[in-house]
Formats: sequence, structure tokens, C-alpha cells
Amino acid sequence: MAVYVVLLGPPGAGKGTQAEILSEKLGLAHVSSGDLFRENIKNQTELGKLAKGFMDRGDLVPDDVTIAMVRERLSRPDCAKGALLDGYPRTPAQAAALSQMLNNLGGKVDVVPYIRVDEEELVRRLSGRWTCRAEGHIYHEVFNPPKQTGVCDVDGSELYQREDDKRETVQRRIHVYLDQTAPLIDYYRKEGSLVEVDGAQNIEAVTQDLLAAMPAVAGGAKA
Ligand code: ADP
Ligand code: ADP
Repeated sequence: MAVYVVLLGPPGAGKGTQAEILSEKLGLAHVSSGDLFRENIKNQTELGKLAKGFMDRGDLVPDDVTIAMVRERLSRPDCAKGALLDGYPRTPAQAAALSQMLNNLGGKVDVVPYIRVDEEELVRRLSGRWTCRAEGHIYHEVFNPPKQTGVCDVDGSELYQREDDKRETVQRRIHVYLDQTAPLIDYYRKEGSLVEVDGAQNIEAVTQDLLAAMPAVAGGAKA
């Protein structure tokens, strides 16, 4: 049976960082809606052109296009064993659509780790984030620096600072998160799938807590 994990948390909580590590350990595809949008922008697709304005302002891309994009992604062969969703769902409508898509695939949302981090720390993390051009690998200039400044350890591509990581846009994104995405915490708590993890610890400690919080999924994880 395929396994689906939804990583929930504010922008900067460490969802992408943990998804990279966990997808490798758990053998699940990493599905990041933000990465999918950035890929579309890079390839200058119609979807990319539409998404860019919303992303630059720190607003959410409309539900209909976001849902269609993720549905297509989850139907690809590398998701046959399941997926780690990072950055999706972000609204109640997206959460409802996800249940339905997974139902059609014969699965469900198995577990929703909610990574808790306070706002001051989020700003510190986002303002020091560096992202790899080729594949979206994530670094922090102080907390998780690359071996060589400006160069991705994994694929050697250039690192850049995301346009939406500047201070004003970060504030807007946190506001949008509190308004539109935070209600999902209660939604998944009521469904019984929420597990809370303290995201203020170092990256390794957060990984360990995530694995411990989802024993049924992490059973076969590589140490
Ligand atoms: P999200 O996907 O939730 O927005 P990221 O994984 O991109 O978050 O992390 C945001 C920034 O914080 C990145 O620069 C990343 O290197 C850094 N980071 C991630 N986890 C931690 C952590 N546990 N401690 C310190 N910095 C972290
Ligand atoms: P972060 O890592 O800081 O949480 P993401 O890379 O997940 O940011 O998202 C960047 C931007 O892409 C968001 O601010 C939003 O504009 C858009 N986006 C990503 N995922 C979604 C989604 N599920 N619904 C709507 N917009 C999204």
C-alpha cells in the first residue's frame, strides 16, 4: 500500500529540508508544490507565468491550478510507493481535494507531522536561505552552509536567494499562512493524523523526532 505523508508548518519551518532527508530514508517521492511552480517558471510554461505574480507577492496561487498540478504529479510512476508532500495542501479546499485524489489512488493521508517554529526564528531562517538553481536543494548561510559558498554540495549548481525570501514578502507569507493554512492543523488533528514536532531544534534532531513520531511509516527507514 502506498504511504502519504503531509509535512505541515509555516514557511521556513524546515519542511523542504526534512522532506529531502526523509524521502531518501523512507523511499518516498518528494512532492513540493513550490518546487513544481519554480520549475514551471524556469521553463516559462503558461502555469509558470500565471503562478509567478502570486508567488512574488507572497500570495497563494489559486486552488484550481495548484490542485491540478499536484494531481498530475502524484500520478507519476515515482509516486507508486507514496509521497512526502511539502507545501501542499495550504488551504482547506486543497486538503479536501487531496483526500479525494488519494482515495482514487487507493490511499489516504497517513500522517501529518506539524513542524512548529516561532515567527522570529522563521524570519532568521528565510532571510539566510540559499536555494540551488538546478534541483532546489536547500542551505542556510549560518545554520546549514554549503561546503563552498554559493555552490550546491549535491550537484555543483549555483545557489541563489529566492525573490520571495526578502523581508517584506516573508511577513506577507507568514500572514497568509496564519490566515489560510494554519486552520489545517485543527482539520488534521480532528482526523487523528496530526503529530507535532518541535522544529526549533537542529536539523538532525528534528529528523529524529519526525521518524519517532511516525513509527508505522518509519519502520523500514534507513538509519
Ligand atoms: P520550508 O520548506 O518549511 O520553507 P526550508 O526547509 O526551506 O523550510 O528551511 C528554511 C531555511 O531554514 C533554510 O535556509 C534551511 O537551511 C534552514 N533550516 C531548516 N531546518 C533548520 C533547522 N532545524 N535549524 C536551523 N535552520 C534550519
Ligand atoms: P516555503 O518553502 O517558504 O514554504 P514554497 O516553496 O512552499 O515556500 O512556496 C513558495 C510559493 O509558491 C508560495 O508563497 C505560494 O505563492 C506558492 N505555493 C506553493 N505551494 C502552494 C500551494 N499549495 N497553494 C498555493 N500556492 C502555493
